[in-house]
Amino acid sequence: VSHVRLYAKSERLMHVTFDRTEPVTDKIITFWFTPERALHYSAGQFVGLQVLHPEPDERGQRRWFTLSSSPTENQLAITTAFSPDGSSFKKALASLRPGQRLSMSDPMGDFVLPKDPSIPLVFIAAGTGCTPYVSMIKWLRDRDERRSIVFIYSASSADAFIFTDLWKSYTPLTYVRMVSHPTDSWSEKVGRLHAEAVLDIIKTTQGKLIYLAGPQGLIEPLYDDMLKANTPRNQLLLDYFTGYS
Ligand SMILES: Cc1cc2nc3c(=O)[nH]c(=O)nc-3n(C[C@H](O)[C@H](O)[C@H](O)COP(=O)(O)OP(=O)(O)OC[C@H]3O[C@@H](n4cnc5c(N)ncnc54)[C@H](O)[C@@H]3O)c2cc1C
Repeated sequence: VSHVRLYAKSERLMHVTFDRTEPVTDKIITFWFTPERALHYSAGQFVGLQVLHPEPDERGQRRWFTLSSSPTENQLAITTAFSPDGSSFKKALASLRPGQRLSMSDPMGDFVLPKDPSIPLVFIAAGTGCTPYVSMIKWLRDRDERRSIVFIYSASSADAFIFTDLWKSYTPLTYVRMVSHPTDSWSEKVGRLHAEAVLDIIKTTQGKLIYLAGPQGLIEPLYDDMLKANTPRNQLLLDYFTGYS
């Protein structure tokens, strides 16, 4: 990804110590790390994480992760999904022992909240793509900042939504769930993320900042679709995850 490569040239590395895991679902886990020094970063930024391990597969020993911790917390967290046929990196990550030291880049990226708290925000995520919003909502909540947010969260099935308690705890947030493969009892939005569905929910894009986060294959087409639907480019922020098919 060009923007990631660009950052990689100028990144600074630090050591972090793995502390503990926290299960989110049976396939999704949050990993907590203690940084070697106090860090200043913005909610929504990402890091490069290196997990050295024997016989790495061709994907290598390094990945990018958005921090799911908030700058109001002392430790750093990433949240990631595991699949049965997963990479050697994910296997090594899953077998980390508390106290193990790893190399992490300083947080980077401009998928962050605007300084002006009066700008209405639209957060859109697919699956584990919600991680930057986890950081942002915790940050806003901890600072008692109330911002107008519509969060459109898309997943294949109702049981795939994560961090539900967090979304519900932040009362200025309007939480809209969209499922592509609903059960008979599902009474909320049905379908896939595309501009028409988004516009149907938010009515107008005027004056809003629209954040799009999730796997590249889902989020890039949505970005293009939003542009085609005449959303000004400077109102769209894009954060796509590579590596998930
Ligand atoms: C800016 C940015 C932020 C990101 N933030 C996050 C985040 O917050 N959380 C997150 O989970 N990810 C995030 N990612 C993606 C992350 O960097 C990984 O690419 C992703 O987690 C997939 O990891 P993995 O390659 O280890 O594959 P796995 O998670 O192990 O597997 C993913 C898929 O790839 C297939 N696969 C596994 N190994 C191979 C292989 N050797 N060859 C071919 N296919 C294979 C698997 O079958 C599975 O379908 C981010 C990426 C970027 C660029």
